[in-house]
Amino acid sequence: MAFEVVQLAEGCYHLQSGANVGVLVQGDQALVIDAGLDDDLGKRIKRTLESLGVRLGALILTHGHADHFGGAAYLRRVLPPFPVYAPHLEAAFISNPALEGIMLSAGAAPIDQLKGKFTLAQPCPVDHLLEVGRLGLLGIDVEIVPLAGHSPNQIGVRYGNILFSADAFLPIPTLQKYPVQFTVHMGQALETLERLNALEGVLFAPGHGTHLTDARETIAANGAALRRVIETTAAQLRAAPANDGTLTQQVCAALGDRLPNAVSYGLARAAVQAALVYLYEQGQAEITAGGAWRLK
Ligand SMILES: [Zn+2]
Repeated sequence: MAFEVVQLAEGCYHLQSGANVGVLVQGDQALVIDAGLDDDLGKRIKRTLESLGVRLGALILTHGHADHFGGAAYLRRVLPPFPVYAPHLEAAFISNPALEGIMLSAGAAPIDQLKGKFTLAQPCPVDHLLEVGRLGLLGIDVEIVPLAGHSPNQIGVRYGNILFSADAFLPIPTLQKYPVQFTVHMGQALETLERLNALEGVLFAPGHGTHLTDARETIAANGAALRRVIETTAAQLRAAPANDGTLTQQVCAALGDRLPNAVSYGLARAAVQAALVYLYEQGQAEITAGGAWRLK
């Protein structure tokens, strides 16, 4: 997998790969933001820090998805001790990665296909829970920014005019390939996008794709993708009440998401469920005694 070290500012780097990593340098220490998918990414992070002549002083994990924290266990294993920071709820997934498969299995014990490396990372104990607001670490001043929606309590890290924005938005080609994107709360995800769109003069360093000096087109495309899932779910319910599994198939067929495997089905089902929750919270839909959803 391609791996590129992009310098965004003095002492500020964006390691661009399958899942990106941020590095903020102060003196001989680095504050690292996310850890990539696996040992391989962990090794690349370690080598990058060595080439910069710094040691890992602290690690911030933005959210509890395997592709963002899977490399942390390797770094814990091979490097001198360093503290790990993550927001609450996300920290539960990071220290108990089996929860991701359970979540994708609708609360049941997951089948083997839901226990691959993209859904079952090695656990990483979290030392400190992150709160939103200003934070000084290793002599580096950052701001922890709430980015809930893609996951329950995802955060971003703002450093000057640079925002490490995790998976608050995804690259447009990813949306085209997977039109029904994993989302846990549509309302919060849309609110997060609106807030990011209103920021002026910010350089975005997202969790996937390249850095962006102007993210408005990408943010708009992400908002449109979420609204399409909500509107398509409502349109299916207008035709007939249905349960979440049937709706997942209907919405994905309507939007061209092929659902090739159990992981993609589990991810899409969560997004459709999040659309149902959105409609419920808007007073537009309700769940019936038989388990089917219908419009009010
Ligand atoms: Zn994610």
